[in-house]
Amino acid sequence: MTFQNLGLSEDTLKAVEDSGYTEPTPIQEQAIPVVLTGRDVLGCAQTGTGKTAGFTLPMIDMLATGRARARMPRSLILEPTRELAAQVSESFERYGKYHRLTTALLIGGESFSDQEKALGRGVDVLIATPGRLIDLFERGRILLSDVKVLVIDEADRMLDMGFIPDIERIVGLLPRKRQTLFFSATMPPEIRKLADGFLTEPKEIAVAPPASPAETVDQQLALVHGDDKRAALREILRAETIENGLIFCNRKRDVDILVKSLTKHGFEASALHGDMPQFRRTDTLERFRSGELRLLVASDVAARGLDIPRVSHVFNFDVPIHAEDYVHRIGRTGRAGRPGTAITIAQPDDAFHTHKIEKLIGRDVPRRDLETIEGADWDDKPKRRRRNGKSASTETEPVPRERPRRWSAAPAGQERRRRTAAPPAEAHRPDTAFGEHIPAFLLRPGGEARSA
Ligand code: AMP
Repeated sequence: MTFQNLGLSEDTLKAVEDSGYTEPTPIQEQAIPVVLTGRDVLGCAQTGTGKTAGFTLPMIDMLATGRARARMPRSLILEPTRELAAQVSESFERYGKYHRLTTALLIGGESFSDQEKALGRGVDVLIATPGRLIDLFERGRILLSDVKVLVIDEADRMLDMGFIPDIERIVGLLPRKRQTLFFSATMPPEIRKLADGFLTEPKEIAVAPPASPAETVDQQLALVHGDDKRAALREILRAETIENGLIFCNRKRDVDILVKSLTKHGFEASALHGDMPQFRRTDTLERFRSGELRLLVASDVAARGLDIPRVSHVFNFDVPIHAEDYVHRIGRTGRAGRPGTAITIAQPDDAFHTHKIEKLIGRDVPRRDLETIEGADWDDKPKRRRRNGKSASTETEPVPRERPRRWSAAPAGQERRRRTAAPPAEAHRPDTAFGEHIPAFLLRPGGEARSA
């Protein structure tokens, strides 16, 4: 399949060619012709699958004729985070370079007056985070009655972040007669119900996650006592040859604490989390992308969907509470056949969540022993940590729904093997994005599908 067969205009095809894409990804192949017919789409696809171009390319052609009126955008794209919104805006710039579409980005942390001015000039494509859009609507700066295409992206993440009431409110302000494109990495019942309410006879498209981490990433797990986690990270950082590394914490306050600690010990690291002003987030990301900054300590929300190519190492300073986040996190490295390393630092009471991760990826994560830090064993009776009778909150995570269950620890000698063990369990091997087929763009030197 080539891009030429999808029904896109010559100008859009030229922009695609300039981007260096030679063939569409599965989501693009399936979504683009359907979107062009004006039909609603329910897409089950993660970042990294090429879904952004899957909706931006046909939208550029659909919006090519017609003109936007002041404060009345012709299309609306809702994104859960500012960074994702900014990336979508860049996609419109890149793919729409031979068109004269106007876009505006409405995201928190940036000046209202600039955004209001942009709206006043009339925009074809409005890309927004829900909170800022509602703020502007309430200030009377925007009218949504001319929106003909609505995109709801990363719906499951919107749910995690508590944005669903905002989304429902925004959809209530749009014309009933419109085209809706709805994307989510997963389809839990709440998301399916929401989609049913927003979509009319949608075409359902599902593509598998972009890569199987078990295949491409050298995964390791260091099990240490809670008080030793920072020292363990330092030992690992010194031992590894790191081109650039993303270090994940579960809570944003721990991001800052860890950055301070690393800096005190002579490592150059910066933080990325949702409480930082936008200009600092943008600047930090830019330094990391350009290679100036080697270590970026991040929370899941801040890092979700970021398009950062060539990350050599991912460190989980905390074991993620949702197993899927483990896959998202480590999927930042080892892309397109490059070597990548993902090292998780666990403490004894992380047994429950570690077990869930190992179940999801269908294999044990090989243990790594440290030189200077004494190893630990799993707690026999793991409990999720609780605060005031409630599960400890994290920036991204709602309370896990599963009931805590007893972890039956294997004998220490059996558990703590070095990282040579654990061939993938074939029966549980997660799918790769493209089945057996690997698109040419993934094989092109330096042309990996850059993970978001
Ligand atoms: P997305 O899933 O939309 O975040 O896209 C992931 C990455 O894949 C982005 O860096 C895109 O530039 C890249 N990409 C999207 N479509 C293609 C394609 N057909 N060929 C090569 N790269 C692509």
